[in-house]
Amino acid sequence: MAINLELPEVAIRENRLGSITGYQGTIRDLGARVSGCSLQNKGRCFSQASACSSGCAQNYLSGIVDAAVVNHAPIGCAGDSAGANEQDKWGRKVRGLEYRNINILNTNMVEEDTVFGAVAKLKDAVREAYRRFQPKAIFVTTSCVSGIIGEDIISALDELRDEIPVPLTPVFCEGFKSQIWASGFDAAFHAILTGIVKPPEKKTNKVNLINFRGSARQQITAMLARFGLEPVFMVPYSSIDELARTSESVATISICGTLGGYFGNALEQQYGVPYVKALQPHGITGTDNWLRELGKIVGKEAAVEAYIKEEKDRIAGELAELRGKLKGKKAVVGMGPSFAHDYIRTLQELGVEIIWGASWHYDPQYDSGQSPETVQHLLEGTEDIPFSVADQQVFEMMNLLNKLKPDLYIGRHPGMTVWATKLGIPSIMIGDEYTAYGYQGLVDFGFRVLDALTNRNFVKKLSARVTLPYTDWWMEQDSFTFLQDEVG
Ligand code: SF4
Repeated sequence: MAINLELPEVAIRENRLGSITGYQGTIRDLGARVSGCSLQNKGRCFSQASACSSGCAQNYLSGIVDAAVVNHAPIGCAGDSAGANEQDKWGRKVRGLEYRNINILNTNMVEEDTVFGAVAKLKDAVREAYRRFQPKAIFVTTSCVSGIIGEDIISALDELRDEIPVPLTPVFCEGFKSQIWASGFDAAFHAILTGIVKPPEKKTNKVNLINFRGSARQQITAMLARFGLEPVFMVPYSSIDELARTSESVATISICGTLGGYFGNALEQQYGVPYVKALQPHGITGTDNWLRELGKIVGKEAAVEAYIKEEKDRIAGELAELRGKLKGKKAVVGMGPSFAHDYIRTLQELGVEIIWGASWHYDPQYDSGQSPETVQHLLEGTEDIPFSVADQQVFEMMNLLNKLKPDLYIGRHPGMTVWATKLGIPSIMIGDEYTAYGYQGLVDFGFRVLDALTNRNFVKKLSARVTLPYTDWWMEQDSFTFLQDEVG
């Protein structure tokens, strides 16, 4: 599938990949519909709350250490930046970086701006961002309001180029355009690809590692060093210079297929940097596959095999013990698609039975044109798994969890995981994307699961004292009452 970096914006996932946010069935049925081209989205006639691609783009870009973000929007659209700031500061602290706030400004669009436009405000905000932060690049993120009134952001930035000597890059990520917040990642990466990445001048031993703000950087750096490679962790905590030179790397690899697919495939198509198309490195099967595919690309198969054997031998005893203790426990997984499929597989490796999987959208294919490797792997498994797709509609999951009553809920978003806890279900929120990363990570995760299952006092006490906002009427309905018929 050709990616066009000549265009100022990337199409949303619904239009580009055929992605959906409404489905109920099983993982096998979902896979069969994709291969039979009969996958259609189901709408909902009621929606509680969700997230937005604009917040997703601006928060991700705000992690670049020497860039600034100007959010051309009403102030409320920057509300998520408080959370991004808190995450960024934690990451700065553990990496020994300067402990400061993220470089983000909002243009505070108000009602009269929707009538008269706010280009002057935007230009002032870009000037102020340059004065205040002295960044190496400024990203301007759009919003529903700036998009709907048709603000000419490209011209506004063009008019500032003589005045401000750093890349000024628009990021078209209006929330209303896509129901899938991951479209915001694509918008952020499109801006990096079109405004920051330069053609290669040489080849390096670096591997672009697309991730969020999590841990495991030291382990990955040490592991890649065994193969003669160096990671460029991106985008959070990378620099504009590092991003500009990603075209010189020997490969691109991602901790999350949903996150990394657009950048990885675009860099491969534009500059020939191979993108590792593999399972993600959670649990044994994922790590084996991730490393072996990287090893093939860089010609280090033997070194990779030696590392895999060494690590597996090291954890074999503890893994067997964990499997014995976790066997037969029942879990529900609810996450973004790549992670949902990944953690279903990882929990199965620990002996946990997955009685329901839910993903917050579903991509039938990535920008390579291939369907996600994580889904293919689940389709090959012996068990079919009940599965649903929703843009994190908490009311639906609460109804479902109340009926299924699993031993454990595993999520990646606090806005959902906290409700499972309030329902009295032991829950784990996987905030750090390197949870269960690699072989030792699987063992550590297994003990965390065991801990959640055996120390239930907090969950019991909390659920006994909380009054849920959902009525008995709703809890007695079919969980998917508001999911409508398929639409084209
Ligand atoms: S959906 Fe639109 S109005 Fe709401 S936060 Fe996102 S960009 Fe702003």
